[in-house]
Amino acid sequence: RAKDKGRGGHEFYAAQMNAQGTERLMLESGLRRALERNELEMHYQPKMDLRTQRIVGVEALMRWRHPVLGMVSPAQFIPIAEETGLIVPMGLWALRTACAEARDWQSRGLPPVQMSVNLSVRQFASDSLVEDIAGVLNETGLNPELLELEITESVMMKSPETTAQLLQQIRRLGVGLAIDDFGTGYSSLSYLKRFPLTTVKIDRSFVNDLSQDPDSQALADGIVTLAHGLRMKVVAEGVETAEQLAYLRAHGCDEIQGYWLCKPMPAEDVCAFMARHLRTQFAVPVAA
Ligand code: C2E
Ligand code: MG
Ligand code: MG
Ligand code: MG
Repeated sequence: RAKDKGRGGHEFYAAQMNAQGTERLMLESGLRRALERNELEMHYQPKMDLRTQRIVGVEALMRWRHPVLGMVSPAQFIPIAEETGLIVPMGLWALRTACAEARDWQSRGLPPVQMSVNLSVRQFASDSLVEDIAGVLNETGLNPELLELEITESVMMKSPETTAQLLQQIRRLGVGLAIDDFGTGYSSLSYLKRFPLTTVKIDRSFVNDLSQDPDSQALADGIVTLAHGLRMKVVAEGVETAEQLAYLRAHGCDEIQGYWLCKPMPAEDVCAFMARHLRTQFAVPVAA
C-alpha cells in the first residue's frame, strides 16, 4: 500500500511540477509582452496621518491583467520580472505612470499627496536610474518632494558603497527614500545611519499581532524610537484593525496604510476616495 501511495504521490508530484512549470512559462512569456499590450495597471493605496487623520500619501502598486489567467498577483509576477530583468522597463513605466497620476489628481483640485513607488534591486544595476528618475520628474512636472521611492533591505546589502552613492544622488533631487518591510531582511542597523533614508515602513508581520503579542509591540516601539531618533518618519503597513491603529497611534507611529483604511484601488477610485475622505475625515471612526 505504501508503495502504491508512493508511486501515485510521485506521479501526482510530477504532474503538479509540470503544471507549475507550464504556468511559469506562460507567465514569463506573457510578461515580455505585458507592457506593450497595455496589460499592466497601477493601483494606489492611501496612507493616513495618525495625528491629523488626513490622507497624506499613496503607495503605487503594480497589477497585471493577464488575458487568460485574469489578475496575477505581484507576489507571482514581480519575482519573474526581477529574474528576467523585465522589472527595469516595467519599473520605469510604473514610476512615470504614478507621477503623471499624482499630477493629474492635483490638477483636479485634490490637495497634494506623497506618491510612493517601489523600486526593485535590479533597477539599481541600471546605469541610467538617476537620470530616469530626474527625467520622469521633469516630464511630469511633479514636485520631487512629493515623490518617495520604497526600497528593501536587499538593495542596501547588494553593494553598499555604490548604493549609498546612488541614494545620495536621488536624495539630492529632493526625492524621499523609504525602507520597506523593515525588520524582515538581514541588513545591519548601521544601514539606517549610513543611507540617506527618510521613512521606515514597519512590516505587516509585526503589525499583525500587535494587539496581543508583547514581542511585536517591543519591535514596533523599538522601530519608532530608532527611526524618530534618526529624524525619519514611521509608516506602519498592513493595518487591518482598530486595535492595531490605536496601539500605533498611542506609540508614536506617524502614518498607517492597510485594509482598515482601504485596499489598493484603481486611479479613478482612489481619487474619489480621497475627495470623500477630505469632506468626511472627522467622521472617520477611529478607536481612541
Ligand atoms: P509592498 O511594497 O510591501 O506593498 C504592500 C503590500 O501589502 C501590497 O501587496 C498591498 O496590497 C498589501 N497590503 C496593504 N495593506 C494590507 C493589509 O491590511 N493586509 C494585507 N494582508 N495586505 C495588505 P501587493 O500589491 O500584492 O504587492 C506585493 C509586493 O509586490 C509589494 O510589497 C512589492 O514588494 C511588490 N510590488 C508591487 N508593485 C510593485 C512595483 O511597481 N515595483 C516593484 N519593484 N515591486 C512591486
Ligand atoms: Mg512597498
Ligand atoms: Mg511593504
Ligand atoms: Mg511587504
